[in-house]
Amino acid sequence: PDGIDLVQDGTLTVCGEAPYEPFEMEDKNAPSGYTGFDVELTEQVAKKMGLKYVYKDTAFDSLQSGLALNSGECDLGASAMTITEDRKKNLLFTDGYYDSKQSLLVAEGSDIKTKDDLKGKTVGIQTGSTGEIYAKENLDGAELKSFPGDAELWQAIQAGQVDAVLQDLPVNIPHTKDGKFAIVEEYDTGEQYGFAAKKGNDKLIEEFNKELKAMREDGSYDKLYDKYFST
Ligand code: GLN
Repeated sequence: PDGIDLVQDGTLTVCGEAPYEPFEMEDKNAPSGYTGFDVELTEQVAKKMGLKYVYKDTAFDSLQSGLALNSGECDLGASAMTITEDRKKNLLFTDGYYDSKQSLLVAEGSDIKTKDDLKGKTVGIQTGSTGEIYAKENLDGAELKSFPGDAELWQAIQAGQVDAVLQDLPVNIPHTKDGKFAIVEEYDTGEQYGFAAKKGNDKLIEEFNKELKAMREDGSYDKLYDKYFST
């Protein structure tokens, strides 16, 4: 499409941090090497725009700060990224595509039942995330420990290095499937995820929104949503 500024001609180069299940996961059998709700959604939009698709694993903190996009590493950030006023200072966002919340994950049988039980406990949070902001404002008395991504948070709680993990609800849910960890509380932060582009690339955002809207209208958005979020 005309007027869209792309890092590599004819290709939509997308960045996100994997694993962030079920939004971005490595998958050797997938065409891009990755799968997940964000990956498949942006892949379908790229196809409709007549573009090839490349997905690059990129540290979330460098995406949310605007660094990866503004330095020309990729065209679009697809990383379950919440649209915030602060991030809008450095980035453009598409229309929201997923409503999210925060949640507290603990080991099954833990004496932590609500956030009021966190005094003197260690809570794992992700650097640069909206969960970090929520924790700093709401988890009084807890000792917060920062990790770069969900892979490290998941490792830390399994190893007993933290007593709880504060993370986006849809990403904590997969960690409860073996019955060893449980979500004890959800926090309705009213977050909405959007895909991000560098400032000035309004044309990309505009085209993307058009295709996203078409996917909502023709049922392909719902089909993908059901694939990843129906239980
Ligand atoms: N939704 C959260 C945020 O935007 C976490 C996203 C992520 O870690 N990939 O900060």
